[in-house]
Amino acid sequence: MAERGLFERALGLQWPWRVKRTEFDAAECRLDLHLDFEPGGTFDCPSCGRGGCKAHDASPKRWRHLDFFQHRAYLHARVPRLRCPACGVKQAKVPWAEPGSGFTLWFEALVVALAREMPVRAVARLTGEHDTRLWRLLKRRVGRARAEADFSSVRAVAVDETACRRGHDYITLFADLDRSRLLYATPGRTASVVSLFREDLEAHGGRAGRIRDLCMDMSAAYMKGAREAFPEAGITFDRFHVQRLMNRAVDEVRRAERKERPELNRTRYLWLKRRDRLTASQRERLDALLDPAGQGLKTAFAYRIKLAFEAFWDLPPRLAEIYLEKWCSWAAGSGLQPVTDAAKTIRKHWDGILLWFRSRITNGMIEGINSLVQAAKARARGYRTTEHFITIAYLVCGKLDFKLPT
Ligand SMILES: [Zn+2]
Repeated sequence: MAERGLFERALGLQWPWRVKRTEFDAAECRLDLHLDFEPGGTFDCPSCGRGGCKAHDASPKRWRHLDFFQHRAYLHARVPRLRCPACGVKQAKVPWAEPGSGFTLWFEALVVALAREMPVRAVARLTGEHDTRLWRLLKRRVGRARAEADFSSVRAVAVDETACRRGHDYITLFADLDRSRLLYATPGRTASVVSLFREDLEAHGGRAGRIRDLCMDMSAAYMKGAREAFPEAGITFDRFHVQRLMNRAVDEVRRAERKERPELNRTRYLWLKRRDRLTASQRERLDALLDPAGQGLKTAFAYRIKLAFEAFWDLPPRLAEIYLEKWCSWAAGSGLQPVTDAAKTIRKHWDGILLWFRSRITNGMIEGINSLVQAAKARARGYRTTEHFITIAYLVCGKLDFKLPT
């Protein structure tokens, strides 16, 4: 009978709950713990919290618990319905499980911990539970933890899109730049997702007026959504997306020129990579192509304009705007269509490009979140639904407090 006390301590049971008997089936690899409440035991009302409520009746229930070594463990108990003088007859809460769950809190904690690291399908295999049940558990846990999450301190937010399935089903992610956490994920990438985020933020104690900065790529939809939902926030365009405009322009010039200048074949990365990331022999090849005496390559000209744009980001803020002005005139008059187009796009996004010199924010952190979510998706070889995708995104990147036993 000593093991009863042991299990009572392990489960943290308190009056009126106790272990009534344990059944150990070595052949079935199974441990069953039968719990019960002491006669005359009283319970707290789950609605109003009033203590000392007597059991009205009780119905038997079973919960999956953590394995006991190689033995699958279950708890069994009669769950009392109590009679509260104020609220009437109510189902009592048991201390080891959430209402309606077939798992103990410890089992749920294990599933949450495992699902962060491996596909739910693998967790299902390891625990011998059906993955549909585990998904339901995770969704409920994430929903509960998010309901408690506090967004009142959020001031700067990054927005990014991610693909739920190859080529379609886009999800928009919103992240807290100060605390590096995923705040909100929702299907779609239209302007309206920004308003949905605002609603969610305000439901978690945040205020639209407190959001000072938003960081995003130059998507027209996000921009429109941000102006509507967060009219007071500054919009900073992610500088790496902006820089990519010029990288693409150089590559386009090269591809067009390659037909007449075969020496440009297989040089793509020489023009795109940062010079200090090239090997010595790559650098040598690049320098030969850049040699102004011999070549007169259009690609080399576009490349010089690109380098001048890269230098822009290192300028003192006071010089930034006037420099960008000069750079744009130069690029616009280059006679290279892709470069002229890039300069036009840069002019169109003027304020949000220059705002970087004040806000200094980028999408680097949210792209980190994005790649964690994509890595989880790859491990799982995709998700059946966008809902599953979003559940895992919150689980892995939400920094949520699951309030589970540790
Ligand atoms: Zn009550």
